[in-house]
Amino acid sequence: MIYKFAKLPSKVVCVGLNYIEHAKELNMKIPAQPVIFLKPSSSVIFNNEKIKYPKMSKRVDYEAELAVVIAKKCKNVSEKNSKKYILGYACLNDVTARDLQKKDEQWTRAKSFDTFCPLGPHIVSGINPNNLKIELYLNGEVKQSSNTKNLIFKIPELVSFISKIMTLEKYDVIATGTPVGVGPVKIGDKIEVKIEKVGTLTNYIARD
Ligand code: MG
Repeated sequence: MIYKFAKLPSKVVCVGLNYIEHAKELNMKIPAQPVIFLKPSSSVIFNNEKIKYPKMSKRVDYEAELAVVIAKKCKNVSEKNSKKYILGYACLNDVTARDLQKKDEQWTRAKSFDTFCPLGPHIVSGINPNNLKIELYLNGEVKQSSNTKNLIFKIPELVSFISKIMTLEKYDVIATGTPVGVGPVKIGDKIEVKIEKVGTLTNYIARD
């Protein structure tokens, strides 16, 4: 089944460092529990919309991620019951001002600029999310290529863990982390996040 995004997520909960090779490329340790952060709903854009390169940054990176979309309000979900609360899956680009992420102790500024959370092209249900090819194309050239089977913390664990911290609402999104191969973008670039059985999310980099 395919659904449209009927409204903006009230929040996007992102998981950092959830692929071993990506943690290595950033010289960061594999966390013992999921490391999470938020992107505001004001950062969300959809398919074919423009990512605006902020004047505050000199280094903006793409990050291809599988997004989990929540089906209904929930709290304290067990891993076993997590499937009931998942509406489906989408592609997400966790756009990051890498220079500001390194400069700030907190990641909020680096991750939260308007347009820094492309999401789409739609929500797909009825698929097994645990073995999907995930790729990122920059101007048609493949830059990231992995598989969701390489996630360190799996989707049931993420839904359960996050729902023990905060109430999840219908259409809230969990971004499950990016694989190795993150890199910079420039104005005019075309970026595609392509996930097997989910679709392709296309966005363009524009001047702010
Ligand atoms: Mg990320």
